[in-house]
Amino acid sequence: MKRTLFADQLKALRAAALDRHLREIDSPQGPEIEIAGRRLLNFSSNDYLGLANDSRLREAAIAAINEFGVGAGASRLISGTQSPHLRLERALAEWKGTATALCFSSGYAAALGSIPALVTKNDVVLLDKLCHASLIDAARLSGAIVRIFPHNNLRKLESHLEWARREHFGKRVLIVTESVFSMDGDRAPLRELVQLKRRFNAFLMMDEAHAVGVIGPHGRGLVAEEKLSDAVDVQMGTLSKAFGASGGYICGSHHLIEWLINRARSFIYSTAPPPAIAAAALAAVNFLSSSEGETRRLLLWERIRLMRKLLLPSARKAINYQLSTINSNEGSAIFPLLVGDEQKALNLAAALKTEGFLVPAIRYPTVAKGSARLRITVTAAHQEDQIRSLSEAIRNITNSK
Ligand SMILES: *Cc1c(COP(=O)(O)O)cnc(C)c1O
Repeated sequence: MKRTLFADQLKALRAAALDRHLREIDSPQGPEIEIAGRRLLNFSSNDYLGLANDSRLREAAIAAINEFGVGAGASRLISGTQSPHLRLERALAEWKGTATALCFSSGYAAALGSIPALVTKNDVVLLDKLCHASLIDAARLSGAIVRIFPHNNLRKLESHLEWARREHFGKRVLIVTESVFSMDGDRAPLRELVQLKRRFNAFLMMDEAHAVGVIGPHGRGLVAEEKLSDAVDVQMGTLSKAFGASGGYICGSHHLIEWLINRARSFIYSTAPPPAIAAAALAAVNFLSSSEGETRRLLLWERIRLMRKLLLPSARKAINYQLSTINSNEGSAIFPLLVGDEQKALNLAAALKTEGFLVPAIRYPTVAKGSARLRITVTAAHQEDQIRSLSEAIRNITNSK
């Protein structure tokens, strides 16, 4: 009998509690969203500053649509580069304090375009074990030799660097990591990484996806906070999270950006992002640079501190649950509640949904097998009582199971 395509594989996914499904959201992004006629408190998004539905961004996008239309019509190198794209890149570079910047249609595209442009066959890429899929895919695509070092393990990274110097002398070595890790919320030891990269004459690329808008003066990220802009060769980020818009970027030197314009295939062979999206992202950069933006970022930190204060004791008391990373660093807006078992994580997420909270269960392959978790994100748009009610619900549910 003829089998239906993928039926067995899908069955196996379901049996392992690893199947995934789309959920339809009938409202804009925000601390409250609507799913199938129900309002849910949303602790799942990366819209850290609540900009995704901000009137400043909406109006900037609408004005740009009225002036420039919708589609960009061609790739950036043909005729797709419109004024909003260049305005955004100038503002990004100024805000970041780098010579220049280049935007891509997504953070994923920024990674996929840039890493294969930086290294090639016989070069070496050293990746943190917890790096985002876009960085892993990009490293693989580059054809370079890829070595993974255990998460934030400087000693192992050092021994990889020694190995690379010994076995691949004269080849380019690129260290790739994140300033805030997307599923754990902890930070990279940036100063030590810079010391290592200097000692071994390697290049350093930092993905600041979850740090920009959150960390550093005016949300410029961890690199800016540590005043190490000159030491980090490639600063990557996304316009899709704290910026509330869409797209990815690379900030760096003139030569780097000129090289990417010539070699980054996801940039060259893809139509330019809609000019209205660039205009919305520019409004976000301008907001972040303003004193109002800084006030919003400080409000986010108040919410982060409240979440940590309320979650930590209830998570400790709950049998078999731990908030693994909160103690060990200065924090971020990401709170992983480690569960371990995939089905158990799904059950917990379902129980929270019944209580009116959207908190996603994160499972393999996003995280390692057996390290499933609830990933709670807090934003500046959450009210204090919303955070209190989530922590209460978690306490009740985890203690009753
Ligand atoms: C989300 C994310 C990306 C991808 O950015 P998009 O703009 O969503 O494509 C890249 N790196 C990290 C660490 C991320 O969390």
